[in-house]
Amino acid sequence: MSSDFLHIDRVSRRFGAFTAIDNLSLDIAQGEFFALLGPSGCGKSTLLRMIAGFEEPDAGTITLDGKALTQPPHRRPVNMMFQSYALFPHMNVTRNVAFGLRQEDVPSSAVRERVAAALSLVQLDGLGDRKPHQLSGGQRQRVALARALVKRPKVLLLDEPLAALDKKLREETQSQLVRLHRELGTTFVIVTHDQEEAMMMAQRMAVMDHGQIAQIGTPEEIYDRPVSRYVASFIGNVNLIEGVIARIDPLGSQIDCGPAGYYRIEHPNRVAQGTPVSIAIRPEKLRLTIDNPPGKAINAMQGTLVEIGYLGDSTHYRVRTGDRLMTIALANQGKMPRFAIGDAVWVSFALDAAIVLER
Ligand code: ATP
Repeated sequence: MSSDFLHIDRVSRRFGAFTAIDNLSLDIAQGEFFALLGPSGCGKSTLLRMIAGFEEPDAGTITLDGKALTQPPHRRPVNMMFQSYALFPHMNVTRNVAFGLRQEDVPSSAVRERVAAALSLVQLDGLGDRKPHQLSGGQRQRVALARALVKRPKVLLLDEPLAALDKKLREETQSQLVRLHRELGTTFVIVTHDQEEAMMMAQRMAVMDHGQIAQIGTPEEIYDRPVSRYVASFIGNVNLIEGVIARIDPLGSQIDCGPAGYYRIEHPNRVAQGTPVSIAIRPEKLRLTIDNPPGKAINAMQGTLVEIGYLGDSTHYRVRTGDRLMTIALANQGKMPRFAIGDAVWVSFALDAAIVLER
């Protein structure tokens, strides 16, 4: 796998005085399923549109397979599927999918074959004569996908492709996209603001913040080892406790969190004594007990249970401890402990359950 197949090199894009993409560099490998993720307005779509050719960078270059991407959109070996699907309402499915090929003067017999293959790929065989209004939302989405794939792009760009679908259909379509990606081996770049969607589909992802990249990695790397409070909070839920590194030893640090307590964390990253840090702990890494937890009072805090949210496969608990609310997620399996709102409880965590982030 060539690691710099799609090479974005120090690209910036401004709109008036506003910088939407700020000196951003990123390499996407051939055949990769890559997600651009971030809150609304962070520049995801602008970056995708520059790859597609609908926007031009003010600075920097984008190359694909060693060649600069400077052609107009329809001449680029990339194709984009839009959130709105942008289907022609007066054309049937076959003509919608064939549109790009017809513009390229592909012979009719080849167009027919390729359209049929694309429709089969997205499991729409037999629906070629329908008009878009005669299709369900999910079917329209797949027509748009077939239309983007029929030109056999080197890179398929997907801008929030599942946003218009309901939750169940969205989950089914996520699996279909993963299957399609595996079958085709095409490079997929998807834009989404939905972190679960990105984690479920992408092999690697970039979390964006104000036109820059906050972190790039596999879903596991980003979830388990976020590099900042921003990334930790954007991907999944996290409990943050502020403190200062009080002591360091070969295994980790002791962190003084003032009234919130004194904690011991085993972590490989060295942070100097006196550094202000946040302790970040995922809700599922916290333990909740009525009695003083085993290991006495190491990494344990006393509090009051103030909220219980049953989610089927897990239950989320909120515990007030001092002036902070901690969220704990317990899987609903086997015999569950019984808690009631108002219970005096202990919240605790193992030495290696938390990460230390510099503030
Ligand atoms: P969303 O998830 O809401 O689509 P996004 O991360 O995709 O957000 P972009 O659409 O890339 O964000 O926009 C980034 C910023 O650039 C936004 O603040 C937006 O208002 C601004 N922007 C985008 N296109 C233009 C334009 N043509 N003219 C002026 N400002 C623009």
